[in-house]
Formats: sequence, structure tokens, C-alpha cells
Amino acid sequence: MFLGHYGVALGSKRLAPGTSLGTLVLAAQLADQVWPIMLLLGVERVAIVPDPKPTLRLDFISYPITHSLVTGLVGGLLFGALYFLFSRDKRGALIAAVLVPSHWFLDFFFHIPDLPLWPGGPKVGLGLWRSVPVTFMLEALFLAVGLVLYLRTTRAKDRIGSYALWSFIGVLVAIYVSSMVGPPPTDSRMLAVSALSLWLLIPWAYWIDAHRTVVRPRD
Ligand SMILES: [Zn+2]
Repeated sequence: MFLGHYGVALGSKRLAPGTSLGTLVLAAQLADQVWPIMLLLGVERVAIVPDPKPTLRLDFISYPITHSLVTGLVGGLLFGALYFLFSRDKRGALIAAVLVPSHWFLDFFFHIPDLPLWPGGPKVGLGLWRSVPVTFMLEALFLAVGLVLYLRTTRAKDRIGSYALWSFIGVLVAIYVSSMVGPPPTDSRMLAVSALSLWLLIPWAYWIDAHRTVVRPRD
């Protein structure tokens, strides 16, 4: 899953209005942010396989650190604790600690059984990726619901608050669509290098949030 993780981050602003969207995106996408680094270090491995379905082109041979349930849960606790130390934002720390492993749980529905429960442990995944239309529909749904929640929780303070958000959404959709309809990456190194560019979205999300104000503190 790709867009769905961003949808969850956007929607979680409703639960943690005092926390920047940048932190929420970093938490929800931490696994995929660290993954290309692990690939380049040779700690984790992926292969590109010819498959008519674009959702099944990546063979996640091994990613025990970034995509196991246990490392996700531990990573969430560490991330939440670290964020709390810097921000003293208890509510945000709690939400961030849940967002980190939310990545694994969302991926669990989509991946074919390649997600380890713990490093070296049994691999699981319900395989929604086998259906391209279902995958597309759910990715769009998660992003749309998250965006609506974010829009209902915050209001643009100035033009940037609006343009930065909508261009962010546009870039996300463009990345996703091109990964689905475009040619597959040539090799795993290229894939890792291009995945590193997702880091640009983190300061971008902080930038969006700095130009928006919370309209409804909480439910
Ligand atoms: Zn992932």
C-alpha cells in the first residue's frame, strides 16, 4: 500500500491536532522511509519480477527490520518516546506510536505473504494486491477519507496552506499512478534510489502544516 499510508497520516491529524502533519507522515511511512536505506546498505533485499499485474512486480525477498510486526511495534514505541521527549505532546506521541505499526497492519491486507511477524519469523499477508481494481479502489478511498478529515480539522492560514497541500496530494497521486502504469524500475538499486526521494515529502508535510491552523481541536 502507498497512498493509504498517507491517508492514515492525514486522517490522524483529527486525533492529534497539536501534532504536525510532518510527524504524522513520518510515523505512518517510517517503514518505507527506512526501507531504501536498508536496501542500499544490503541489509534488506528486493527483486523486480516480470508480472502482468503492476501490484506484483516487486518481490520483497527480505525486509526483517522495516517490515516485521515486532520491529514495527518496537519502532512505534521508540518513535513515540523520542517525539515525546522533544515535544512534550503526550497525545501526539501516543498517536505516532500507533501510526508506526499501522504501516504493517495496512500492508498485511495487501502484500502476498512476505511480511514477517518478527525478523526470521513466519511471513504473512492477505494478498489484496492480487486484484488491481480492489487495490486501486482502497488506495483512493484511504487517501480521500484521510484528506477529508485533514481538511475538516485544519484551515489554510494563507495561500501556501492550500497550494502546498493540494500539490502534495497531486504529487502523491502522480507517484502512485506512474508506478502502476509506467515501466517497472530497471533494477533494485534504481528502485532504492528513487524511493529515497520520498524523504522530500516529510519537510513538505511540515511546511503544509505550518501554513494551516486547527479549526476543531478534537471531537
Ligand atoms: Zn511498506
